[in-house]
Amino acid sequence: MKVGIVYDEIFLKHHPGSYHPERPERLVKTLERLAQEDVSPLTEYLSPRKAKKEEILWNHSESHYERVAATAGKTAVQLDPDTATSEDSFEAALYAVGAQFVALDEIFKENYKAIFCLVRPPGHHAETDQAMGFCLFNNVALAAHYAIKVLKLSRVLIVDWDLHHGNGTQRSFYHTSEILYFSTHQFPYYPGTGRMEEVGHGEGEGFTINVPLPAGCGDAEYLLIFKEVLKPIALEYRPEIVMISAGFDPYREDPLGGMQVSTEGFGALAGIIQEIAEETCGGRILLTLEGGYSLTGLSESIAEVIKVLAGTKKPQASPPPSGLGQELVSQARKFFSKYWKL
Ligand SMILES: [Zn+2]
Repeated sequence: MKVGIVYDEIFLKHHPGSYHPERPERLVKTLERLAQEDVSPLTEYLSPRKAKKEEILWNHSESHYERVAATAGKTAVQLDPDTATSEDSFEAALYAVGAQFVALDEIFKENYKAIFCLVRPPGHHAETDQAMGFCLFNNVALAAHYAIKVLKLSRVLIVDWDLHHGNGTQRSFYHTSEILYFSTHQFPYYPGTGRMEEVGHGEGEGFTINVPLPAGCGDAEYLLIFKEVLKPIALEYRPEIVMISAGFDPYREDPLGGMQVSTEGFGALAGIIQEIAEETCGGRILLTLEGGYSLTGLSESIAEVIKVLAGTKKPQASPPPSGLGQELVSQARKFFSKYWKL
């Protein structure tokens, strides 16, 4: 089945500053790559819609919404030390959220199994009341709210493989079991959250799974953790859809990261998530773009993920056994066996 891509030129009109790594060229380069003949026949493009204010308020305070709205038409507004806007950033952010809703509707109409929202600005650092870490509104969190409120789902799995911890997403669902949030991330590192001990609270206890990783981890460690920690937990949880906060900054040459994941490695991670989705929820996967600042790493890895999801390529990464990977897995399994059959 073809992989849907939700995209619009509005996503090129968010300019956080001339030297900012989160720049429009990220999408330009990715679109060029996806237009090549090995990937192009596997994709179909869909247009996003604009999210409404009341939809944004599912995850954000009114004061936060108004602060971002007030940036419209202004050349440059600095919302936090890393996060700035331009004239059309607010508009782009509303479409980035609305892209998720279009994708979810299409997936549940069974027109696609997997849809990739190729959006900017990214979302997973955005807190309920604060823009942060290049993010204005939390795209994946709003997708999960839509799944619960509009599509009436009760179990959503969010897998966040971005280099950084998705502090905003974690906080949005810290108290609920309706969303299982799983994150691998470089630690200690920006934004500072994501210790293993952050497991959720009240009804949400055990439904936040953080696997913090030392710098230098690559395919061997990531794949082992996805197979030996994520997969058994996800199969026990039985999500009704899997959402991926797809950041490509764990790529081995990413300028902001210290990880070693290869292009093929991202394809293999997508392959494991596809197995989970096929076993639990008819293969339904929503991917939303987060980070990834090497233009080559980003565009090649997205192409690889699409080939794997479309079924034209078997996951290629076959890393040698890693002692570090086994150590990280046994630590995580021991820790989370309090909540899950591991
Ligand atoms: Zn990131």
